Amino acid sequence: MRKYIIMGPQGSGKGTQAKMLAKDFDLVHISVGDIFRWHVQNRTKLGTKVQRYMKEGRLVPDEMVSDVVKWRLDIHDWRVGFVLDGFPRNAAQAEFFLENFDIDAVIAIELPEEAAVARMQSRRLCSSCGLDYNLIQLRPKVPDVCDNCGGRLVTRADDTPEAIRARLRDYREKTQPILDLLREKELIVAVDGTPGPDVVQAEMRRRLALGPGSIEALPAKQPVEVAGAGVRSLILPGLAWQYSRHDPYRRTTGTA
Ligand code: AMP
Repeated sequence: MRKYIIMGPQGSGKGTQAKMLAKDFDLVHISVGDIFRWHVQNRTKLGTKVQRYMKEGRLVPDEMVSDVVKWRLDIHDWRVGFVLDGFPRNAAQAEFFLENFDIDAVIAIELPEEAAVARMQSRRLCSSCGLDYNLIQLRPKVPDVCDNCGGRLVTRADDTPEAIRARLRDYREKTQPILDLLREKELIVAVDGTPGPDVVQAEMRRRLALGPGSIEALPAKQPVEVAGAGVRSLILPGLAWQYSRHDPYRRTTGTA
């Protein structure tokens, strides 16, 4: 089993890096932010509760986050392991995590704050299929148009200057201190996030000793059914995004 957490300031490319790692090593990418965005988009009860926090760039209250993470990890749909992206983000969440789950490593992507701001301001999301782009490092072929579905590219609702400042402040004040706690437990693998995505990924794999063939080949992944087709997308938001439209490295439309 390979169980990783990926951390880094907003704009450090942790989502992109997590997806690259997950794709090649058949890991399940679990993005807490994507799960919340799914709830907002689908106007669920939880979505209504978290929407305001997200729009303002504030952290969602811990109970809601822990419930979502626990629910998602309880599904246990991985064969090889997972990359958890966006959790933990403060001391209470780190404590909850360390008490309840075992992990192999915490990948910490390091990026100076000015670079993080510049990247977030250049981030775009397809309004139709959800694919993400970055006008610095992952540009669409045609400006403002999604390569995958032709949809219009928009700025993320929480990438406003105020929300960006709030999120980076939270990262500095609440998330960074827990890296020290995890460092004491010798779980941290720190990687420089300033180069392009491929260079960061290569360094990450080298540090995790993940070379070709380092994880044994497994049978092809089957679609996951948890409780009947009708409710699948409702109960598996993280999976619906992961297996289909939100994965920039798969660039397919699927069952979401
Ligand atoms: P992300 O896509 O990781 O940038 O997350 C988007 C937003 O979801 C954050 O700005 C928070 O509002 C919320 N969120 C995601 N993960 C967490 C977490 N672990 N704790 C609190 N809020 C979170």
